[in-house]
Amino acid sequence: MAAVQVGVVKEAAAGERRVALTPDAVPRLRDAGVDVLIESGAGTSAWFPDEDYAQAGATIVDPDALYARADIVLGVGQPPLDRLRDGQTVIGMLTPLLNPTLMAELAGRGITAISLDGLPRTLTRAQGMDALTSQTNIAGYKAVLLAADTFERFFPLLITAAGTSKPAAVLVLGAGVAGLQAIGTARRLGAVVRAYDVRPQSKGEVESLGAQFIELTSVEAGAGEGGYARALSAEEQAAQAAELAEHIAKHDVVITTAQVPGRRPPLMVTADTIKSMRAGSVIVDMAASDLGGNVEISQPGETIVTTNGVTVIGAANLPAQMPTSASNAYARNISALLLHLLDEGQLAIDLDDEIQRGVVITHDGSVVQPATAALLEGRA
Ligand code: NAD
Repeated sequence: MAAVQVGVVKEAAAGERRVALTPDAVPRLRDAGVDVLIESGAGTSAWFPDEDYAQAGATIVDPDALYARADIVLGVGQPPLDRLRDGQTVIGMLTPLLNPTLMAELAGRGITAISLDGLPRTLTRAQGMDALTSQTNIAGYKAVLLAADTFERFFPLLITAAGTSKPAAVLVLGAGVAGLQAIGTARRLGAVVRAYDVRPQSKGEVESLGAQFIELTSVEAGAGEGGYARALSAEEQAAQAAELAEHIAKHDVVITTAQVPGRRPPLMVTADTIKSMRAGSVIVDMAASDLGGNVEISQPGETIVTTNGVTVIGAANLPAQMPTSASNAYARNISALLLHLLDEGQLAIDLDDEIQRGVVITHDGSVVQPATAALLEGRA
């Protein structure tokens, strides 16, 4: 049988600088009997020139040839779906739960859609494929650098002949993957760091990074399923935001990362709380989204300076702002998944496999992933 052809697209979304496959991942795929096609310029904005891919054994092609020849199209976000051939396979972060009707359309065209964001995250054997974790980790790091760059004072304690500067006080709200990386990064820059999470299990992780864990009395422990937080009721959220307000006012920098899968992010920092912060303080809302974020006034992709001098940064696609590291990690994740999906060099969909059951969204003309199908049928 002919070798399977895998095509890597140049990302189309505005501001997206990542690429799905890096040159160092090409030989691994070739060893598994895969031919790799790269859309010319796909890696340029992440600093991977076409020549490096060619040297690694890939074929550089124009977009028409890519969509015509590839059996499997690899992307970071959604590739231009109108360019996909009926019957083709596409792998990327397709956010099926936000776009269930689009998934139904792909199913109707006989396209097999595979989404890395559906991966079961607690399976040890799937960890190397966990792009949500690898990209969120990068985002947590970048959020702190952005905050430090915007904050117009030192992060570390500095004692010089020109005086002493106190270390910055940084508060991280939500101590999952992004929050823990943010804590570690802010500590390495010399800040005094405190953190809060509704899951009490995170206390030990926060403390092991040298940060202090804040415990609130107004909210019951909020561990949900699969290591995630449960959604708090409106009353609980209001009580939490009220108790957090006094802590927030005492910090120079606040980084918010709280998410609940499939829900609007919890509102933790109200506009009133921001009014109580000192001029020069900085907030980075990593949960900022069109649905709203953790900070009442944040807007994704925008920086707002309030009348009392607080800069509120609504983060948008932070991993794309560190495209080289983000692409390196993503390439390892997507190659590991691709190799898992191949049997004797050919794509072998097997919905009895726990990993595939999570990531395969459409196949054989149907939406097969349970969570996406439930949304389409109005069951979720
Ligand atoms: P996430 O992005 O869904 O949420 C980020 C954090 O926000 C979580 O820690 C959550 O508890 C917190 N949060 C949500 N609502 C909150 C609220 N109202 N107040 C305060 N905090 C709130 O989560 P994540 O970062 O993807 O990971 C969450 C958990 O899953 C962690 O325990 C993580 O270690 C675990 N995880 C495990 C694996 C693995 O085993 N391979 C992979 C990824 C994540």
